[in-house]
This record gives sequence, C-alpha cells and structure tokens, in this order.
Amino acid sequence: MLEKINRKGSILRIERASIHDGDGIRTVVYFNGCPLKCKWCSTPESQNINDKLGYIQKKCTICKRCISHCPENALSLSNDEKIHIDRSKCTSCFKCIDICPFGAFKKYGMTMSVDEVINEISKDELFYFHSNGGVTISGGECLIQVEFLRDVLKGCKMKGINTAIETSLFAKYKDIEKVLPFVDTLFIDIKHMDSSCHKALTGVKNDIILDNIIKLDSSKYNFDIRIRVPIIPGLNDSDYNLLDTLEFCNKLSKIRYIELLPYHRYGIDTYNSLDIEYELKNINSPSKDCIKRIVSLLEQKKYSLEIRANTGIPDGSIDLTK
Ligand code: SF4
Ligand code: SF4
Repeated sequence: MLEKINRKGSILRIERASIHDGDGIRTVVYFNGCPLKCKWCSTPESQNINDKLGYIQKKCTICKRCISHCPENALSLSNDEKIHIDRSKCTSCFKCIDICPFGAFKKYGMTMSVDEVINEISKDELFYFHSNGGVTISGGECLIQVEFLRDVLKGCKMKGINTAIETSLFAKYKDIEKVLPFVDTLFIDIKHMDSSCHKALTGVKNDIILDNIIKLDSSKYNFDIRIRVPIIPGLNDSDYNLLDTLEFCNKLSKIRYIELLPYHRYGIDTYNSLDIEYELKNINSPSKDCIKRIVSLLEQKKYSLEIRANTGIPDGSIDLTK
C-alpha cells in the first residue's frame, strides 16, 4: 500500500507514448521552472515556474470580446491587428481563456499533487511492461522542484516503473543526491565545454554542471548516465568543443553513450504566443552530412564510448545508416 502523498508541484504537461526519451515506450512529464535560458530552448513556456498565458494569433478572429473583460485592462488591439497582452499588467487570472469563444488563449502549466502525477503515469503501465519503457521526467529543469521530483520518482519505483530524468544538472549536489535512490537513468546535457561560451548561450557557467557529473560518476547508487549534446550550428559544433566533450566523458565510467541532438526550431510558435523574441531564427538545423561528419570525427578517437545521433526529428529524421 503506497502512502498518500499530498505535496504539489508545477507541471507543464504530460505526454504519452514517447519513443525518444529513453528506453521503450515512455510517458514524459514536463516540470515547470528552469534556472537556464538556453537560446535554442524548445519549451520556453517551461522556463518560468508559474503558469503563463499564451496567445495564438491564428485562432483569433479579432472579435475583441476579451478586451473589455480583462479585469486588469491588460488587453488591447495593436496596430498590426492582433491582441496585445501588456504582461506588466496581467495577473494571470486566466479569465480571458473562458471568455474567448475561439480558443485563442492558452494556459501553460498546472498544479498537480504527487498522487495525481503518479496516477497519470500509471495509466500506461501496460505499455512500459511490454516495451521495457517507463517514465521520463523532463522540463524545464526538474531538479528545481527537487522534493516534488523525489516523491514522484519514489512513488514510481514503488510501483516497479522504470524512471529517467532529463536534466541540465545545474543544481546543488546535495539536492541531486535526494533523487538518486529512485532514478534508473539520467540524461544530462553538455551544451558547451567552455564556461564563458556556456554562459553566453545558456545564462549560466558550466562549472557546477561538470563538477556534478564527476561526482555522480562515483555515486554508490545504481543508475546509468547518458550524455546529450545539442548540435547548434555555429554556436557549439566546433571540432575542438566536441572533442573536448568526448575527452571529458571518456574518463567517466557510468556513461552509457553520448547522443547528438541536432538543433531544431519547433518552439518558434510558442515563443510567438508568449511574445518572446526567438534569437536563433537565422540558424538552420544541421544537415545529415554534418551530423555524420561529427559522428565520424568522434569515432576516430576509437574510445569505447558509443556515439549516437537522435533520430527523433519529425522534419526528416537523421538516419545515419543511409
Ligand atoms: S476573444 Fe478571442 S477571438 Fe476575440 S479578440 Fe479576444 S482573443 Fe481574439
Ligand atoms: S490572464 Fe487575466 S489579467 Fe491576464 S490578460 Fe487574461 S484576463 Fe487579463
């Protein structure tokens, strides 16, 4: 019998049947809140831990009904004929969502208890069993809600569900230790090996992250680490940086493989809905040949570490076997 857990957390969304976030078929729970601000972030709606209001212009018919109903006078018609949200006035009451007949407003985020999250995850238990899958907690940065994360992971483990987390590892090690007894796999991003470049691209230096990876490698707990490297053309894909990443990982024993994640721009619509400027609009996804060249470069080192390229790119998966 599981003890009833009432702690609540901030969740962005829950996605089912993922085959790109760990082994087998997985349910992915996106936590809200992140201390980083990566320029290529594909879930900008997860960066702030609070629920946020999005406006989807293509659904709006400019009926103007919402304008007079906003209690804070935060809505107006802009010169380019769309609804402008004055975010300095908006108090996130979300009344405009109910008023709009066309679904042009969207709330990003919800509050859920540990039990509610575990119940949602448990609905897919049959799929986990038949595919060796499980749950993956993503974000945002899930470690920012570490007590809530620990309780969700612990509840899953008590039900025999395989657990993984996707993390930047930008956190205090004493917090990371709280979840280690309940996690089977950690997916950790290494975004740049140079600390100054890392800060320019993500808003934080990488010293804590690399230090935490080294500490994790000598942890007494039984989990494996999979390193993910986003490949952002012109920003972190120099041979020097990638070889430096490989050298760092090669010294560690818990790392199962390095996975390259080709940059994509799927978050652009969300940036627009939140009135956030997308800084990388002039950068294209790397080509298949570019990724093949990087894999080949890393494999020339003849280390035993496996190098993979993630094929979960909906706009023309990079299949390195062809
Ligand atoms: S109520 Fe909805 S459709 Fe009408 S102007 Fe406001 S956002 Fe647009
Ligand atoms: S969430 Fe509330 S305060 Fe913000 S724009 Fe909508 S109605 Fe106005």
